[in-house]
Amino acid sequence: MENSWLHRLDTYTNETYGRPRSRAVDEQTCVSCGSTARTFDTRYATESYARVGLCQHCQRASAPPADVVVFRPRDAAGSLDAV
Ligand SMILES: [Zn+2]
Repeated sequence: MENSWLHRLDTYTNETYGRPRSRAVDEQTCVSCGSTARTFDTRYATESYARVGLCQHCQRASAPPADVVVFRPRDAAGSLDAV
């Protein structure tokens, strides 16, 4: 089936957010919060909306925080050092 991954994505967003991504993009609304999604801060965010259907606010909310602290695995001495 052509574009079956798009069909699966629609199924996923329908189960997760209650609306299919393709309909949200057609209506220029957000698949998650349902608000109008027409303005984006960056070209990346615009392209990301076309793929996943999340508005600028929801893209920002779903992005990992910038201050995530990554830990190395415990060394032989058992210490846990922040990178
Ligand atoms: Zn949203």
